[in-house]
Amino acid sequence: MSSKNNRSPEITSEFTAAHRKQTRVAIIGRPNVGKSTLFNFLTETRKAVVKDQPGVTRDILIEPAELWGNEYEVIDTGGLTEASDLISQLIREQVVEFLKSVDLLICVMDGRDGLIPEDSEIIRVAKETAKPFLIVVNKVDSIMNFESFKAEFYKFGQDVLSASFEQRHGMSEILEWISEHLKKFKAQDLDAFTIAIVGKPNVGKSSLVNCLVGEKRVLVSEIAGTTVDTVDIKIEYDNKPYVLLDTAGLRRSAKRVEDVEIISAFKSKDAISRADLVLLVVDGVQGPSNQDTKILEQVIEEHKTLLMLVNKTDLGEEKIPAFRDWFKTQSDKIFHYYTDIPMVFVSALTGQGIGDMFSKIEDLKTKMNFKVSTSELNDFFMSAIRGAPSPVYNTENVKFYYLTQTHQVPPAFIAFANHPEGVSPQYRRYLAKRIKENWHLEGLPIRIFVMKSRKR
Ligand code: GDP
Repeated sequence: MSSKNNRSPEITSEFTAAHRKQTRVAIIGRPNVGKSTLFNFLTETRKAVVKDQPGVTRDILIEPAELWGNEYEVIDTGGLTEASDLISQLIREQVVEFLKSVDLLICVMDGRDGLIPEDSEIIRVAKETAKPFLIVVNKVDSIMNFESFKAEFYKFGQDVLSASFEQRHGMSEILEWISEHLKKFKAQDLDAFTIAIVGKPNVGKSSLVNCLVGEKRVLVSEIAGTTVDTVDIKIEYDNKPYVLLDTAGLRRSAKRVEDVEIISAFKSKDAISRADLVLLVVDGVQGPSNQDTKILEQVIEEHKTLLMLVNKTDLGEEKIPAFRDWFKTQSDKIFHYYTDIPMVFVSALTGQGIGDMFSKIEDLKTKMNFKVSTSELNDFFMSAIRGAPSPVYNTENVKFYYLTQTHQVPPAFIAFANHPEGVSPQYRRYLAKRIKENWHLEGLPIRIFVMKSRKR
């Protein structure tokens, strides 16, 4: 295969199933058992709609949570487990696959109903994932009630607790269970630079991953007997470690369009939020499209460093005269708000441009850690604010005092001013643009916060 021959020889790869920055706890259960209440309790937000009617939340919700100083993430799987054809959907391979990508499962049951067949099915699915799981029997308002069901639930040989979410009974036991397991996961973090590969279908994401890791990928997915979409791939290029978050692959195993959409949108969003850098793969021959813009906007919203991969360059150069110029013109048109996206032309099929891609990644990585001294920053700042009309608050000119860099990566800044309310997003964009130009930080999501200060 040509891709293999042209692949740079210094790439090595290895698959890790459990790389993640945050331990994940998924809440599963049939409709109306109290999943959202537990989700809200753990995350202390009101994002999940607490409801009486099944099927109110269709999406998968994911929220950060903290427990005694340890951070983790909670997933409300309502969107997956509350479909009308619950059982048939639950036994679907990809739901199990999805649950394999989390670390802990909490199966919520309704104690007033006792153990019903759907619950057994859910427990079976939980078991299949081979992850630690806790059975919580909710809506148990007196211990007596629970005792009579206990034997039933214990036959699954797992951790079983009773609770009343509404009365806040049993909550501390649930927290303790989570905490015990969080400790075990804590030491597992990897230190490699994490790269998400995202893009609409058919742009060549899978081909790119194949190009980067070769035949191994296929082998591993066969051995595991699974789809490749939940596998994070650790590779080394030029002796530097990277973790690839592969969002492709699912499409091939999914059976129902709706499931594919929920899971793949989730995966893409999830990969973007976990990544240090996002590779947005675009079909060069087709040219940039509005669908690409949507993904681009997600990346920008998450403040992630972005590198656009214009794929199928082999075909583009064959078919389109002055291909690269043509593509750049198209991209200025379609992505007109975002003029400084770094771009590399590659071919996942021939391996062309892969070396350039890695050098660009390294370049961006360096820029992400950019630090500037306060004095240099403020010399720049004073000239930048002289270069544009002052923002106005009511009738008064906004007065800036100074600019300081935060400790965040990629770089972020705080400007102190007398009237932060008067500093429009456009003005902040202007400042960000000047910062990028001044220190060649194109492609980085530079953030500027404005805070109130009375004087210097
Ligand atoms: P995904 O849906 O983004 O994972 O896309 P695939 O990797 O499945 O690729 C979709 C189609 O584009 C396949 O037929 C690939 O062979 C083809 N393809 C992918 N990359 C290239 C490339 O660089 N050059 C050419 N000519 N075809 C490509």
